[in-house]
Amino acid sequence: MTATLQFLGAAGTVTGSMHLVCAGDRRVLLDCGLFQGLKELRERNWGERIPEVRGVDAVVLSHAHIDHSGYLPLLARQGFRGSVYCTSGTADLLKVVLPDAAHLQEEEAERANRHGASKHTPALPLYTPRDAEVALGLVQGRAYGEPFPVVGGCNVTLRRAGHILGSATVDLLIDGGTRLVFSGDLGRYDRPILRDPEPVAEADVLLLESTYGGRTHPTGAEDALARVVHEAADRGGVLVVPAFAVDRAQELLWILHRLEGTGAIPSLPVYLDSPMASDVTDIYRRHPEDYDAQMEQALRAGDRPLRPRQLHVARTVEESKQVSGMRGPAIIISSSGMATGGRVLHHLAQRLSDPRTTVLLVGFQAAGTRGRALEDGARSLRLLGQEVPVRARVERIDALSAHADRDETLRWLGGFTRPPRQTYLVHGEPDGAAALAAAIRERYGWQVAVAQDRATVRLAPAAAAR
Ligand SMILES: [Zn+2]
Repeated sequence: MTATLQFLGAAGTVTGSMHLVCAGDRRVLLDCGLFQGLKELRERNWGERIPEVRGVDAVVLSHAHIDHSGYLPLLARQGFRGSVYCTSGTADLLKVVLPDAAHLQEEEAERANRHGASKHTPALPLYTPRDAEVALGLVQGRAYGEPFPVVGGCNVTLRRAGHILGSATVDLLIDGGTRLVFSGDLGRYDRPILRDPEPVAEADVLLLESTYGGRTHPTGAEDALARVVHEAADRGGVLVVPAFAVDRAQELLWILHRLEGTGAIPSLPVYLDSPMASDVTDIYRRHPEDYDAQMEQALRAGDRPLRPRQLHVARTVEESKQVSGMRGPAIIISSSGMATGGRVLHHLAQRLSDPRTTVLLVGFQAAGTRGRALEDGARSLRLLGQEVPVRARVERIDALSAHADRDETLRWLGGFTRPPRQTYLVHGEPDGAAALAAAIRERYGWQVAVAQDRATVRLAPAAAAR
């Protein structure tokens, strides 16, 4: 029996995570993510991404971020009716994330039709809420650490990855022989709310993310955030934070609450302008299996660690418009995290030209996104059909990242008791992947290759490898 692995996304880039494992006639998809960012990548969401979709037996998801899960509704539309396995935290998050993605697709199509911005008339959404609903019907939540079958002879164990609620590494054992481990997105050590990434002891083939393979995050996220909040408040303006509704928003709330508690920042109105982020915050409250000791302790002490004193949640469009009319000093947290869509576009369109505004970037900004343009010092930005000059101050705090940096990734690799026969780097732009490959060779002397987009590689059985 030959087993193969094909990279169908997130190879040479950080979005579109999707890898196909074929073992004899069994086919398992690891992640099912949308491409985001650069136009030529986004256009691939529209083409045929997976050969013979109906032949896919099962999908295993590492976590609920759209670039790892957002293709599921399309898979369902293309006729896939197998099971989608993930942790129960991820299963809950998908109930919020997938319908939201479908709404965003519909909004985008509507906008394109209004502005005549699409070469297709009429512009159609990539998928609809109905497609998302069909996909959700296929999802099956599983516990951490307990092996389960995904298709005959293929068993999976999910372990905590510490990246967002429910995030997991995927350990796929094929016919009791070949062990493929997929890191998904690796989280960080000693961060608020979530437990640390769990070590994995063995892999024949390792599929490893490399987002920050070339960087080490500075420490002192809380101090950096306190400084930015103070400076924004002193200028009397609004601090706009584009944040992934899943996890970045919750961690920000956690840190703001804590900084208020210690008196490190003044208590300011905090507007969480994202119905999804507020739903997700509720889901976080329902999954204690993911909490670290600090979070457990805060809850035991009767604290509400995800709630700054002056928190206002804007759920409806009306409430969101009120946030738009509000003056500083104040903090607005709104998605999407790379300003590719969502309500944060309205806040940026309205406030970027005001020099009192501060925009704070707290996550990885992929090439081709508005977030990356801001990070790179763009003088103006196209938002909602108009060109908006950037007069706001733009800040970035890498220490708030949800991704392991180079050293944290190397630390996680230290958990393996023997070298994987082969390691493939995915989920990184070329520089990050190359830097991580070099670091792994230097530290551990392992066989490492950067995954090539759409390439297929062989997964030799364990016996042949020893
Ligand atoms: Zn992620």
